[in-house]
Amino acid sequence: MGEFDLIARYFQRPNSSVKRAVLGIGDDCALLQPQAGMQLAISSDMLLEGRHFLSTVPPFTLGHKALAVNLSDLAACGAQPLAFTLALALPQANPSWLAAFSDGLFSLADLHNCELIGGDTTQGALNICITIFGETPSGQSILRSGAQADDDIYVSGNLGDARLALEVFRGTHTVSPEVWAVVRNRLEQPTPRIALGLALRGIANAAIDISDGLLGDLAHLLRASGKGAKINTAAVLPCMAVSAIWDAHAAPISPAQQLQYVLAGGDDYELAFTAPVREREAVALAAQQSNTPITRIGTVQAEAGMRLLDASGSPMPHNFASFDHFAPAL
Ligand code: ADP
Ligand code: MG
Repeated sequence: MGEFDLIARYFQRPNSSVKRAVLGIGDDCALLQPQAGMQLAISSDMLLEGRHFLSTVPPFTLGHKALAVNLSDLAACGAQPLAFTLALALPQANPSWLAAFSDGLFSLADLHNCELIGGDTTQGALNICITIFGETPSGQSILRSGAQADDDIYVSGNLGDARLALEVFRGTHTVSPEVWAVVRNRLEQPTPRIALGLALRGIANAAIDISDGLLGDLAHLLRASGKGAKINTAAVLPCMAVSAIWDAHAAPISPAQQLQYVLAGGDDYELAFTAPVREREAVALAAQQSNTPITRIGTVQAEAGMRLLDASGSPMPHNFASFDHFAPAL
């Protein structure tokens, strides 16, 4: 199978129901027509074998995840997905691998009406780079820099499960089949929070995708906004999806470890966002309308720095090893 056969067979869809571009695959450039009054939101993410995924990952879930991590960036800006390009380096053209990979990719793309409009294909070590295009009404993107003192801080969905799955792969922990099914799904098939991002337009003051870990990414948002925060760790702890299915005795990890995974585990394609206290009802409605669980975890403060509070409200030292790496001084 040659390069152009490969593109035609696995990535060009003549009968695609999705038609967001003026011109898609097949010419030197694709053409997008921005709508009047809209801005394009553009983001790229690269996935490298060994660094971002294990060689054992099923190709269907890899296709899903490659697009999901990009969609998550659009979600954080409150952008509506339009189209994406795919730059792919492959060691060899394996038909069953390509079929499963493109299935995973297009299943998620179709769910979000996001059209594959071009890319590049080359032989080499497995490397997947997607650039995604979305749109927002001019001036309505949700940025990192908009947080105000006294805003509530929220996170979407579940945190820490992907890290637990990674540690199980690494052999650090052993979990029951029931727990494994949940955490593996969170690692391999994250849910980009597009609907929540759209629903938060005009309500949230600031948002960020927390794929590098909650504390580290929230620190980026706070720095961009010139603010600090206090975080109630007791509110964050139950964000781990599997904490609901193990009781305290059967938990395969200690509470301290669980806290580390939810605060700084990484690979959680969730949103952290801030909104004024007076918008609590609107935030709850946005979560409900977008069918996305959210948790209120803290408050933005005028004074720089990240203050962690324990269950009794007392300050907690940042005494986890990875926090140094993920939570630089504000
Ligand atoms: P170029 O000469 O500009 O490098 P190519 O000959 O590599 O273009 O690609 C031919 C067409 O196929 C272009 O429209 C390109 O955008 C598209 N394309 C190449 N690889 C991919 C891919 N992996 N997925 C989608 N479209 C692709
Ligand atoms: Mg090319």
